[in-house]
Amino acid sequence: MRNYYTAIQFWSYSLLVVCLCPLAVFLGSYMAWPLGVAPLLLLAPPTVLAAVSSPRICYWTITALSVGSCFAEVFFRTDIVNGHNGYTLSMLSAAVLIGLVLLIDLYMGVLKRKLSQIHHQNDELVRQLYQTQKEASVNHQNSENGDGKKPVQTAESKDSPAGELGVNYPLLLLTLQDIGRRISTNQSNESLIPTVISTAKASLQCEYCQVYLWDSKSRSLKNALPARARDQLNYRPVPNSGVAAWVIEHRQIVMRNDAEQDYRLRRILEEDPNMPDAIAPLTVGSDLIGLLVIDKVDIESPTIGRLLYILSNIYALGIKNSQLFKRIEEMASRDGLTGLFNHATFQEKLQDLVKQADAQSSQLSIIMSDIDHFKSFNDTYGHQAGDFVLKEVARIWQTVMPEKTILARYGGEEFIGVLVDHEYSQALQIAEDLRETLENCPILFEGQQLQVTASFGVTEFRHPAMTTNELVRIADENLYKAKEGGRNQVIGLDPNSARKPGI
Ligand code: GH3
Ligand code: MG
Ligand code: MG
Repeated sequence: MRNYYTAIQFWSYSLLVVCLCPLAVFLGSYMAWPLGVAPLLLLAPPTVLAAVSSPRICYWTITALSVGSCFAEVFFRTDIVNGHNGYTLSMLSAAVLIGLVLLIDLYMGVLKRKLSQIHHQNDELVRQLYQTQKEASVNHQNSENGDGKKPVQTAESKDSPAGELGVNYPLLLLTLQDIGRRISTNQSNESLIPTVISTAKASLQCEYCQVYLWDSKSRSLKNALPARARDQLNYRPVPNSGVAAWVIEHRQIVMRNDAEQDYRLRRILEEDPNMPDAIAPLTVGSDLIGLLVIDKVDIESPTIGRLLYILSNIYALGIKNSQLFKRIEEMASRDGLTGLFNHATFQEKLQDLVKQADAQSSQLSIIMSDIDHFKSFNDTYGHQAGDFVLKEVARIWQTVMPEKTILARYGGEEFIGVLVDHEYSQALQIAEDLRETLENCPILFEGQQLQVTASFGVTEFRHPAMTTNELVRIADENLYKAKEGGRNQVIGLDPNSARKPGI
């Protein structure tokens, strides 16, 4: 419900209704419009529009505001003579507004029910079609296996294009529907790739299917699934030779059967004798996303190429979509300059780590730092040099901190890192190493050797900080003490504090 109320649409309509109320009073008082007419005429359009276009909870709230405005007119009008019963017309206007919204509400309800019935009928028809098709193909196989004679073609099977061409159209329809649904729900590649493979196998009736992702920078192909999860196909496409290279260059599907009959491809096939039944490029516009490799195709259908073409286009769009989604997520969680996590992501991750450390009684320390006199550094060397230094400082943090620690740019020139399962003494030592590295390694920028130092505050979970906020606050206090004490130093917990050895 909260989401509806935060929608800009809701606030725009509400604001419009509230703004129209004084106008209604003005038209009544100064232009002598009859009571109730101005609010009705002014408020009916936005209320009706809201009822047609926003969620139910929102348009009823807006209707309540409009009804309130009808009565507000009575209180604010200056031309109402005492004793005159002004409420009747206002009540009538309010009733008309409520009536209008009620009618729309009812009509929308009917429309929604009809729409869901149509969806349901549609699904049911596709399912029935699929079932009929499946039964027909089982009968066909039984009669072929039974007496070796060709099955007698019924009028229905003769007429059916699916029967003639060996393509399972209902299944294809279901597959397309399924893939389309997944594309629109922005799935991650981890769950999309297995879906691509299973649906490709089902609709193309092949035994093996693999997806390779294309890295345009390194011009390399990488299997989209880990070794244990992929089909054990004894073929690996190589981007610079054989059929895969041809597919990458021409962005066209190569079917083994066709290649054997094509004089241009026959030579390539000799280079690549283990080529599977088909390799299809996964492309979106001019972008190559990867390759779809299929082998042991079960049906000899003249339309298999076309089917593969349609499916590979849908798959490519789905994969591209999920790659973009992942990139946007990544960009939203990282700082653009240094590539470290940003403040908001850091807070989320720290909260999770604190919960985990609390549940498992494990150790957690944080190191916070702030570059010394950075403002005057910028004034002396310029902001570009300052930016470069920030990037280098982030790189030094990444080198000195143990692998997989959470590192973030906490603010302008403030950095923060979380150490999990490390002794507090190790955290102090790492902070000291960072400080020394910064002090002793000048940063080379456009031929100049730049030197910065930083101050550090270190603290540990439970000594005494018990929450995420306290952890950051105490680290910040220690950092402040380091600044006060002359900068370029590490300040940890007060040795006289109640810290017990170990946990
Ligand atoms: P100290 O921390 O030692 O007390 O002094 P300071 O000069 O570093 O003081 P403070 O932390 O208040 O100043 C932060 C400065 O960092 C201000 C701003 O010029 C600089 N800064 C913040 N973000 C960026 C950035 O993205 N790029 C550059 N070049 N400078 C930045
Ligand atoms: Mg600062
Ligand atoms: Mg500073």
